[in-house]
Amino acid sequence: MNDYDVIIIGAGPAGMTAGIYAVRAGMKVLVLESKGPGGQVALTSTIQNYPGVGQIDGFKLGQDMWEQMTNLGVETQFLSVDKINFDTNPKEVVAEGVTFRAPSIILSMGASSRSLGLANEKDFVGKGLSYCAVCDGMLYKGKNVVVVGGGNSAVEDAMYLSNIVGHLTIVHRREQFRADDIEIQRLLKKQSEYKELIDFKMGFVVSKLIGKERLEQIVLRNLNTNATETMDVDGIFIAIGRSPQTELLDGKITLDAQGYIITDENMATNLSGVYAAGDIVHKNLRQITTAISDGAIAGTQASIYAKKNK
Ligand code: NAP
Repeated sequence: MNDYDVIIIGAGPAGMTAGIYAVRAGMKVLVLESKGPGGQVALTSTIQNYPGVGQIDGFKLGQDMWEQMTNLGVETQFLSVDKINFDTNPKEVVAEGVTFRAPSIILSMGASSRSLGLANEKDFVGKGLSYCAVCDGMLYKGKNVVVVGGGNSAVEDAMYLSNIVGHLTIVHRREQFRADDIEIQRLLKKQSEYKELIDFKMGFVVSKLIGKERLEQIVLRNLNTNATETMDVDGIFIAIGRSPQTELLDGKITLDAQGYIITDENMATNLSGVYAAGDIVHKNLRQITTAISDGAIAGTQASIYAKKNK
């Protein structure tokens, strides 16, 4: 009953696309997901760079992919994976005490939000500190809020929050944003129209979080002068990138220096029958489009392997 041809861990765009390709190749497919469909995409407010779809809410896109995949016959379980036995034949995936078996495994666990690494950061999560503007932004209606980061996520979060909060400060450690030019231009335009709403603190980092029950103040350090200043805040949104979710791999899968999985052009890892797809993979561009490309390749190759090794 728990035997499959292909087991996919993680239901982001990469995992769901892999599921669609594998089930259409005639495989019995299981997708294991610990949270909800869509992965990071479900937390994205507006997606404008998915070809053929002018503009879509990320949550909706994730739900649509899920529906398409399950309608095609992919089985799903909302379980958190505890262990993968790569050495058994078939391979075993243990999730909350239940063991599932398959010759082919696809690793599509994605990446999780990076933290600032400050001592008391965890204490303030949900108490003035968030890693998800789309999830928690509405709690800060009319409030004084800070976004930390300079990539697409930070700029996108800033744009989203600018429609909700009373005042927004964007804190970035360099003088230039890393985000795509189109996103930066949008933010600068908004700032020029609403000068009292949006401030920039370029060349600054958050060096301290202060508060009793909730976050009340942050200390900013100027990286050029080392001078510090304290700012009253109601909330801080941290959008400084992500780290790959590779804790489960137990050192068995070859990773790059940043901890992302190294694959070949078939999305195959160093272990036969084990494939990887999406944001967890070593590559230059992490987008929905590149994740679904990985997923299509991994789903196809994992199916070929499973047929040969049943
Ligand atoms: P990112 O592109 O890696 O940017 C992270 C930002 O946080 C950088 O500006 C970085 O500064 C800063 N940072 C990193 N560590 C820091 C620290 N410890 N303290 C202070 N600042 C720190 O991450 P992301 O914005 O989450 O995006 C991840 C990927 O998803 C990217 O490929 C991005 O294009 C993609 N994405 C796309 C969309 C979209 O197309 N709609 C939306 C969101 C994300 P430096 O610039 O100095 O390195």
